[in-house]
Amino acid sequence: MTRAVAYLDYNAGAPIRPAVAEAVAAHLRRPGNPSSVHAFGRAARRAIEDAREAVAALVGAAPERVVFTSGGTEANNLALSGMGRRAFLVSAVEHDSVLRAAPEARILSVDSEGRVALDALDAALDELDEVGSPALVSVMLANNETGVIQPVAEVAARARAHGALVHCDAVQGAGRIEIDMAALGVDLLTLSAHKIGGPQGVGALVLGPDVEIAPLIVGGGQERGRRAGTENVAAIAGFGVAAREAAAEIAAQPRIQALRDDLERRLKEIAPEAAVFGAGAPRLANTSCIAMPGVSSETQVMALDLEGIAVSAGAACSSGKVGPSHVLRAMGVAPERARTAIRVSLGVETCADEIDRLVAAWRALYHRARGKASQTDAEPVRLRRLG
Ligand code: PLP
Repeated sequence: MTRAVAYLDYNAGAPIRPAVAEAVAAHLRRPGNPSSVHAFGRAARRAIEDAREAVAALVGAAPERVVFTSGGTEANNLALSGMGRRAFLVSAVEHDSVLRAAPEARILSVDSEGRVALDALDAALDELDEVGSPALVSVMLANNETGVIQPVAEVAARARAHGALVHCDAVQGAGRIEIDMAALGVDLLTLSAHKIGGPQGVGALVLGPDVEIAPLIVGGGQERGRRAGTENVAAIAGFGVAAREAAAEIAAQPRIQALRDDLERRLKEIAPEAAVFGAGAPRLANTSCIAMPGVSSETQVMALDLEGIAVSAGAACSSGKVGPSHVLRAMGVAPERARTAIRVSLGVETCADEIDRLVAAWRALYHRARGKASQTDAEPVRLRRLG
């Protein structure tokens, strides 16, 4: 199948699923505050509780442990603010919504593949034991830029042995790898609807059986007093539909991985010096973070966009974000190399034709840049500055 545009930016946001759009539209047309006791209110309440069950099932949790939020960012902020005074240990490659929510946190280093250094975690936990400080460890399930999967169960086992709580930002892992909160051993887990084909502006913090949080937003008893404010019924209902469909789609990952692996093989054939970051670690099947030597990320993103191909320069979660990626920096990638990386992220609708188009456009850009670069010695520098 040939499409006018090739959308290869699923990690920034997956296209909304048709069944989700229908559910959202249907609920937007209906009146009813879920706190009202009349039939309209009760119908809205039922929609929320139905979605709660679907979201809980996606991560193997009990429905009453799901707290709906305005997205992954709010859920991460709630996780880090709602557990009382603790020392925070967070990995260097976390999303900004974790890093910025705990600016005083100790940062856990990662290895050159982007996996959290377990000996650094042990050392930090030992130190906190000595001063008697309760801790909260926050390590993501899979990285948004590289797709690298963290050893979360291992992290959680070590943290719990020291009595620490564990939070996991599972925004990018959901619907791509099986998630069982109990098996992971985490106390708090973050989800976002728009990464799994749900609407933007809705997410969840899922609590383990033994923890309770203090709300970040107060002023109403909604969400069992854990998050005040009239619920976004339509978005939550859409999140529920997306969670059900995403759970059934994990089986599609081998097909997506075959496309991703084919892409990386072909790009490396074109440019053997092109680096795929995190390729030596377990990764999500859909994500590739790849550098085109000598051509800035922004130049690549713009050139591909002109060809109708949507990819990102590093983390495109926040608008207008430029500058080298903190994730690649933490992995020890030199800044000038990091500035030539793009993120390609595939999804269930991605087809081989889109990969062919990306390969052709990437090849043309690479040869154009090389042609220019070989004309004069000064050219490579100018090219880098273009971005
Ligand atoms: N965590 C990760 C790993 C993400 O990739 C994102 C993406 O934006 C978020 C959190 C934030 O989620 P949201 O866009 O729902 O606020």
